[in-house]
Amino acid sequence: STRPNADAIIRPDFKFEDMGIGGLDKEFTSIFRRAFASRIFPPGLIEKLGIQHVKGLLLYGPPGTGKTLIARKIGTMLNAKEPKIVNGPEILSKYVGSSEENIRNLFKDAETEYKAKGDASSLHIIIFDELDSIFKQRGSRGDGTGVADNVVNQLLSKMDGVDQLNNILVIGMTNRRDLIDEALLRPGRFEVQVEIHLPDEPGRKQIFEIKTKKMRENGSLGRDVNIAELAAMSKNFSGAEIEGLIKSASSFALNQHIKVGTVGDIAGDLANMVVSRSDFIHALEEVKPAFGVHEEDLQ
Ligand code: ATP
Repeated sequence: STRPNADAIIRPDFKFEDMGIGGLDKEFTSIFRRAFASRIFPPGLIEKLGIQHVKGLLLYGPPGTGKTLIARKIGTMLNAKEPKIVNGPEILSKYVGSSEENIRNLFKDAETEYKAKGDASSLHIIIFDELDSIFKQRGSRGDGTGVADNVVNQLLSKMDGVDQLNNILVIGMTNRRDLIDEALLRPGRFEVQVEIHLPDEPGRKQIFEIKTKKMRENGSLGRDVNIAELAAMSKNFSGAEIEGLIKSASSFALNQHIKVGTVGDIAGDLANMVVSRSDFIHALEEVKPAFGVHEEDLQ
């Protein structure tokens, strides 16, 4: 049957602002429209249009930009099962000799549930992190034993076989889309591909706001800290690096308190600890973005 998955509808209580994702509204909308809209179509529309649900989504872009975050939130939004997350190299090295079986096992729960419940089964999400590490172009992957090729073939045969199953979505993630085997990008496989960029200035501002929310609520963010200024000063930072910057600023603030206090004073002192602008400036001298510096410098 091609009736939309009964459980895979947007949770009525779902709010985009609550997702804790900064600066990826456009990407999220694009992912939703291209990969998930069909899951909330009214009954019969899928058949009428003669289309199938997307079963593979590729998210690509620099490290630490929120690819995993977005994949998980999509699952929450669609009321999916807790995603299974597999790391590319893990499949190959940890379970030598049984790599193909590992791939088959990833699909097993979804298959079993589909057999039992049909379209009433919930959506099962399988996430492949570092997809490029095993799914590079043929000939250039693996250790020459052919294990990697077998794993690719196993995954492709699984994905090609899920036509009858409405309840599986495979999300691949990579920093190197250019390395991915073209065979994986065909229709029916990772057919929807969305780039997740480094955040721009408004995006960074949103991320700073999300990541300092608790501090602002409990008064530990200094009044002299201006988030718009931090966003302007953190060009080329990924979301993960912004998180690192805030941690670094906090530890500068902490260290200062510890230096001035005696052991007995510290506890009381820390209760009033405030992370101030100078801690952020200090942190900005230490924490540098790893990616994209060259591109933006050339502009
Ligand atoms: P990788 O390619 O290294 O696997 P990724 O793109 O999957 O990275 P995540 O694991 O999603 O990155 O992000 C790492 C952490 O950085 C997240 O746990 C999150 O706290 C923070 N982060 C990254 N991007 C964002 C964002 N756009 N909004 C909010 N938080 C973010």
